Amino acid sequence: MTITRPDADIAVIGGGIVGLSCALQLTLCGRSVVLLDPGDTRRGASFGNAGVINRASLFPVAGPGLWRNLARYACNRDSAVSLRYRALPGVLPWIRGALSRAHEAAWREASAALDPLTAGALAEHRALAELTGAAGLLSQRGYLKLYRTEAAFEAASLEGEILAHHRVEVVALDEHEIADLEPVLTRRFARGLLFPESGAVTRPGELVERYRGALAGRGALLLESICDRIEPGPDDVAIHWPGGVLHASQVVLAAGAWSGPLARKLGYRFPLAAERGYHRHFRVGASPSRPFHDTGGAYVVSPAGDGVVRLLSGIEIAAPGDPPNHRQINAVTDEARQTLKLGAPVESEPWLGSRPSTPDGLPIIGRAPRHPNVIFAFGHGHIGLSTGPLTGRIVADLADQRRPPIPIEPFAPERFRL
Ligand SMILES: Cc1cc2nc3c(=O)[nH]c(=O)nc-3n(C[C@H](O)[C@H](O)[C@H](O)COP(=O)(O)OP(=O)(O)OC[C@H]3O[C@@H](n4cnc5c(N)ncnc54)[C@H](O)[C@@H]3O)c2cc1C
Repeated sequence: MTITRPDADIAVIGGGIVGLSCALQLTLCGRSVVLLDPGDTRRGASFGNAGVINRASLFPVAGPGLWRNLARYACNRDSAVSLRYRALPGVLPWIRGALSRAHEAAWREASAALDPLTAGALAEHRALAELTGAAGLLSQRGYLKLYRTEAAFEAASLEGEILAHHRVEVVALDEHEIADLEPVLTRRFARGLLFPESGAVTRPGELVERYRGALAGRGALLLESICDRIEPGPDDVAIHWPGGVLHASQVVLAAGAWSGPLARKLGYRFPLAAERGYHRHFRVGASPSRPFHDTGGAYVVSPAGDGVVRLLSGIEIAAPGDPPNHRQINAVTDEARQTLKLGAPVESEPWLGSRPSTPDGLPIIGRAPRHPNVIFAFGHGHIGLSTGPLTGRIVADLADQRRPPIPIEPFAPERFRL
C-alpha cells in the first residue's frame, strides 16, 4: 500500500518524548505530521525515567572522575555502572570515544553546549504541558543531590565550579538543612545541593500518553507501526513500514536508542550505545517532596504521587536483546531502604529502558549531512526527558529553515566521522 498525503508533509519516526515534542512543535508551526511508532509506550525510555527536568545536568557520563572508578566499573564492582562483556564488540566505538573525552577540557566544552539546552528545558515543558492539558503532571520543587561524606562532596567540586560558571542556581545544604528539607530521609547525608530551577514530572509515561493524545487532536496521523527504512529521493522521502510506503517532504528520525540501525541503513555509522536503566515503584508512608540522587548509593528516588515513589538504578551496558539483569536494581533497593522507609513494591518485575547515548554526552540534532530532507533528533542520553520539548522546537525551526533559538553547532551529526 502506498500512502500519499501531500498535506502530511513531515514524517516523524519515534513516539518517545523527543519524537512527540518534534511532532507537536511542527503542528504548532502549521505543518501536518505523520508519526510512526509501534505504540507500546512502556518500551521507550520516556516511559520510565526519573522524571527530573534537570537544569544542572550539564555533564557527560565520562568525565575526569571516570579514571578513578574505571577499574571498579570494568570489574562490575560498583552498582553505578554494569557492563556485560558480550556487548563489548558493539559498543567499543562508544567506549573509545567516551574515554578519549574523559578529561576536564572536554567536560567544560560539553557543559557549555548543554547549558542553553537545559536552561530552556522547564519553560518549554510548561508550554507543551499547557497545550496538552498535562500541566498537573509538572512541579517545580527543585532537585536534590546528596553526598554521604565531606570527601565525596569535595570530590565533586569541579562540577560545582562549572555550574557556578553557567549561573545555575544552587543552594548548598549541610546535614541539618537536609534533614529539615526532607524529614522523611532516615540516612544521614553530610552535604547536599538543591537545584531550585529543576522541575519534575510525576509520571513520565502519563505525560507521553497526553502528548500522544494531543497530537491526534491536532490532526496528526498516528501510525502504530515501526519504520523499516528511510529512503530519501530528490523531491521527497519514502518511508518504508510493514504496511507499505509513505511519502513525505521531510522526515525526522527520533527513535531514541533504535535510531542507530535506521541511520546505518542510510549510510551513517554513529558510535552509539544504549545505556540501560531499571526502575521499580514502592509504596511509602511518607514521600520526599522532590526527586533526590543519593550519589553514594548510585540511585535516584522520585515522588510518583499517591503514596508511591519510583526508584531508579544506574547504567547497564548490554547487547540489544540481552535479557534483564536485576542485580543493579536489587542492590540499590537495599541501599534505598536505608534512606527511606520503602514499603511493598508496586510491580512484580522492575521496568527496563534504554537511554540513547553518544560518547560525548551531547544529543545529535541537525540535518543528515548527505540527505538534506532528513533531520536527526536522537542521542539524548540522560537528559532526554528534560530537553525533548526544546529539541522539538529546534527541529521545527530547522524544518522551516528558521534560525533555532539556541546554538546547535555542538549537536551537529558531522562531529562524528560518518
Ligand atoms: C532509568 C532512566 C532514568 C532517566 N531519568 C531521566 C531524568 O530524570 N531526566 C531526563 O531528562 N532524562 C532521563 N532519562 C533519559 C530519558 O528518558 C531519555 O533520554 C529520553 O526518554 C529519550 O527519549 P526518546 O524519545 O529519544 O526515546 P524513547 O523514549 O526511547 O522513544 C523512542 C521511541 O521510538 C520507537 N521506535 C523504536 N524503533 C522504531 C522504529 N523502527 N520505527 C518507529 N518507532 C520506533 C520506540 O518504540 C519508542 O517509542 C532516564 C532514562 C532512564 C532509562
